[in-house]
Amino acid sequence: MGNSADEVSKLHFFLFPFMAHGHMIPTLDMAKVFATKGAKSTILTTPLNSILLEKPIKSFNHENPQLENITIKILNFPCAELGLPQGCENTDFIFSSHELSTGDLSQKFFLALTYFKEQLEHLIETMKPDCLVANMFVPWATKVAEKFNVPRLVFHGTGYFSLCASHCMRLHKPYKQVASSSEPFVITGLPGDVVITDEQVIEKDEESVMGKFMKSVRESERDSFGVLVNSFYELEPAYSDFFKSFVAKRAWSIGPLSLTNRRFEEKAERGKKASIDEHECLKWLDSKTCDSVIYLSFGTMTSFNNEQLIEIAAGLEMSGHDFVWVVNKTASQEDKEEWLPEGFEERTKGKGLIIRGWAPQVLILDHQATGGFLTHCGWNSLLEGVASGLPMVTWPVGAEQFYNEKLVTQVLKTGVSVGVKKMMRVVGDFISRDKVERVVREVMVGEEMRKRAKELAEMAKVAVKEGGSSDLELDRLMDELKLVRLQREEENKS
Ligand code: UDP
Repeated sequence: MGNSADEVSKLHFFLFPFMAHGHMIPTLDMAKVFATKGAKSTILTTPLNSILLEKPIKSFNHENPQLENITIKILNFPCAELGLPQGCENTDFIFSSHELSTGDLSQKFFLALTYFKEQLEHLIETMKPDCLVANMFVPWATKVAEKFNVPRLVFHGTGYFSLCASHCMRLHKPYKQVASSSEPFVITGLPGDVVITDEQVIEKDEESVMGKFMKSVRESERDSFGVLVNSFYELEPAYSDFFKSFVAKRAWSIGPLSLTNRRFEEKAERGKKASIDEHECLKWLDSKTCDSVIYLSFGTMTSFNNEQLIEIAAGLEMSGHDFVWVVNKTASQEDKEEWLPEGFEERTKGKGLIIRGWAPQVLILDHQATGGFLTHCGWNSLLEGVASGLPMVTWPVGAEQFYNEKLVTQVLKTGVSVGVKKMMRVVGDFISRDKVERVVREVMVGEEMRKRAKELAEMAKVAVKEGGSSDLELDRLMDELKLVRLQREEENKS
């Protein structure tokens, strides 16, 4: 079956992202990718999140008048009624709130998501989309879609490697064979003899609240139409094959999604306005030589204490390398900035750029002066680093980030671990300045790692080009969905 834009012009996707930047950003990119295939997307989200998406969507629609428009449908989310503080519509709120316990609020936030159920039912019934792409954290979405005979695709937001690793951990429980939580073991059943420790592994208790919730996520995945993965085949072929053979039988790799952003404005603003003038930032990078700058970012949820931030600053200074460092802090005149060593910015003037708040990450990673990436291994960041051909320093903190680290250091061999021993969820295990200095130096001079990283970036670009592996998977998905729609139309006729 062919894939001309005409044929698929009427495919209509509902995209229902988890309300966190790490999920909203790839969802917006996904809508753009669908649009380039002639399909229409409606993003379902709450009022405050819709404000973040409005500008980039408007600009995309304006720049691409020949494509189907991306639209937003606003969902009601009455925070007070749901026992949440006013404005708590995004995990950003949870992690930047200083008065409330992050754990309690996160749990309430997760539970509140079921509030969307009726609204989603109503929208599917009235707008009749051809497919619902819903985040893993809304397991009930499979049943809702099924009720109206609409295929539901699961979007985890992570790659194959971590999905396969956690499957093998559940199945074989290799952590039970070691005497202590710090003793390394090989993940049984997972291709590649990958080594990890128990204290780096995400919650394993299947009877806990989160354990039960994750079970329902897996069940909804099993009953869904399949899984969409922001990855590309050449990056993790063994794990893509393993996932399709043993974990979820149907999956489509359609990434790296971030590569859909070609224009400066698209790369500069992907859902949140940068805290620095993007042109200034690029001007600063323009003054540096090729591959000479290391970029440091810990994503959207990590918060380090002052002691740790001081160690990072000191380690960077000791390494002698130029850097761009994004710190989850807002600049304030009263703030004495006790998280920086005395006189740090004067001493590193011209050598280092600190961005307080939000960085235009993809613009920075793509700049030729950027030659290394110190990352917390969130999947979006990791894949953006891969797409930019960068060797990495891995500094995982929580979630599935330790698995992602092992992909970089043990499988792809394009990075060096800073040596975090334990999962700490959002705070981070303490790392000394000496370690920071050592790994920054190692990554910035490691020619073999850089060569491999650049090869992967080339593969990523080919994957999303017409006829590339991700492009073809997307075509196959579109064909299947058209077929489902045809069948449904036939059923309705008879
Ligand atoms: N990001 C950004 N600027 C920042 C911090 C993050 O543009 O200052 C983007 C980053 O490019 C990525 C996303 O936010 O697309 C973070 O997702 P990731 O999965 O890496 O980490 P999370 O925050 O979800 O742990």
